Amino acid sequence: MDELVGISAAPGIAIGTAFLYLDTNPTVPRYNVAKQDFKREIARFHEAVDKAREEIRQLKERQNATHSADQLQFLDSHLLMLDDREFIDTIERKLYAEEFNVEWILFSAMRGLIAKLDAAEDSYLRERTADIHDVARRVLNHLLARERISLADLTEEVVLVTHDLLPSDAISMNKRMVKGIAMDAGGRTSHTAILARSFEIPAVLGLSNITRQASFGDRIIVDGNRGKVLLRPNQKTEKRYLLVQQEWRKREVRLMGLNELAAETRDGKLIMLKANIEVPEEVDSIAAHGADGIGLYRSEFLFLRDGASLDEEEQYKAYSYVLEALGDKPVTIRTLDVGGDKFMPGLYEVSERNPILGWRAVRFCLAQPKVFETQLRALLRASMHGNLRIMFPMISGIEELNLVSAVLDDVRAALRREGVPFRENIPVGIMIEVPSAAVTSDILAKKSDFFSIGTNDLIQYTIAVDRGNERIAYLYEPFHPGVLRLIKMVIDNAHAVGLSAGMCGEMAGDPLAALILLGLGLDEFSMSASGIPEVKRIIRSVSMSEAEELVGTVLEMKSFEEIDSFVQDVMEKRFDVQVY
Ligand code: PEP
Ligand code: MG
Repeated sequence: MDELVGISAAPGIAIGTAFLYLDTNPTVPRYNVAKQDFKREIARFHEAVDKAREEIRQLKERQNATHSADQLQFLDSHLLMLDDREFIDTIERKLYAEEFNVEWILFSAMRGLIAKLDAAEDSYLRERTADIHDVARRVLNHLLARERISLADLTEEVVLVTHDLLPSDAISMNKRMVKGIAMDAGGRTSHTAILARSFEIPAVLGLSNITRQASFGDRIIVDGNRGKVLLRPNQKTEKRYLLVQQEWRKREVRLMGLNELAAETRDGKLIMLKANIEVPEEVDSIAAHGADGIGLYRSEFLFLRDGASLDEEEQYKAYSYVLEALGDKPVTIRTLDVGGDKFMPGLYEVSERNPILGWRAVRFCLAQPKVFETQLRALLRASMHGNLRIMFPMISGIEELNLVSAVLDDVRAALRREGVPFRENIPVGIMIEVPSAAVTSDILAKKSDFFSIGTNDLIQYTIAVDRGNERIAYLYEPFHPGVLRLIKMVIDNAHAVGLSAGMCGEMAGDPLAALILLGLGLDEFSMSASGIPEVKRIIRSVSMSEAEELVGTVLEMKSFEEIDSFVQDVMEKRFDVQVY
């Protein structure tokens, strides 16, 4: 039996059989090829190039509806590369000279070329490395016969063991069959973690090398509560964990008993507890967990479903479905937040040197008016079906807010001209997740109807710590005094002009943070639906004055270590919050 320690990403216990999914991390074999087999290798290469060409053509066709010719030019350049006689000749020449299999020849040629371009003075040449990588990877996938195994096709219950998971894989996997997730990469607020919590799949991430230690079919236990994975456990351990699993389920059922009760402090302050969702089907679990509405619908995940189309009608249907399901409860739908760590095959295939600081969210939307306007039209039309609030992500300052508001005004005007109905008074708010927005939140508050603090990104940018990088996960600290001060500033600035201050980052669902956020004056907490009952329990057992007193003490403290140990102590003793 091996015990591995990682990051607890989604609670619960999974016991099952390991399914290794290595799709995102190819290893390229290298072996000698005899002279008489050269022709066969070259034929394999040409066949793979033909398939890659066809794949790009199809991709281009699918994208034509939503992208301009300019934007699709990169696909043309990929096609040109595949037709380039010099590229083909280089591979053939290298194969004759080095006598290795063609996938290795291609892989080493790609590495050589990328190293050369990377060192070039000319930035245009340096930028071509991503294209070369992309094209070569496509051909390699065909040579390695790496048909993308689809996690949607799983027919048996498994514990997924993987290096990393693209959001598109996570969203389309057969959730009924994936009982647990153990992953090399990722941190607590990476997208796999967020989705695992939403889908209530116990997950441990940041395990570094579990894909090298586990084999297909191994028995495996994922302890999402303690951030531990047990590989090939003995019978005694497995039995013990079955009991832990039962206890955990009983606790969940007990907490659900709070569903019908309001999240009200002992001295009568009513707090809104809302749910974050990624896919429309999650609306079922909202009522089951007693949510007051949806505080964040991450609309980008809609575009990731297999076969999902980007057209206005499809979006309109999905948004209307969610709005209708919630009746008169508020539903905050966030406009497309792609880029950063959300690389989306088919929609967003841009390769950047620094994607976290790159062309993402509203920056992408403002540059893609067709995509943005289509979404805003669908949202406005869907507003007739419920209580819609629109939210813009990654606003960094007033200029960006003015720009997106102008696009929204134009779309409204166009609908009016066409006589298409929509609600006139839809609240329009913004996420505060960039430090510059937090610091200028007094200015932004005058132009917004509500704020929602996105701590996942706000912490990442404030402490300069990549939220998905397990090596530096120890620095990712919600209780860093720098983060707490920014949160306080945002809430105070919202209240100064009578706005409601919400939070939809993962911190809002962290039971350890509940009391601090309450004391700072947060009005609305939005989290994975399954986290609501525990936060509600804490809120109902405390008064505002107690929470404010705790905040007073915490804000005097100088380090996150000091705050962490103080808060853990209070939450464990006073509120019986389980701290691991
Ligand atoms: C956040 O950044 O806190 C947030 C809620 O947005 P996302 O996790 O989708 O980046
Ligand atoms: Mg964010």
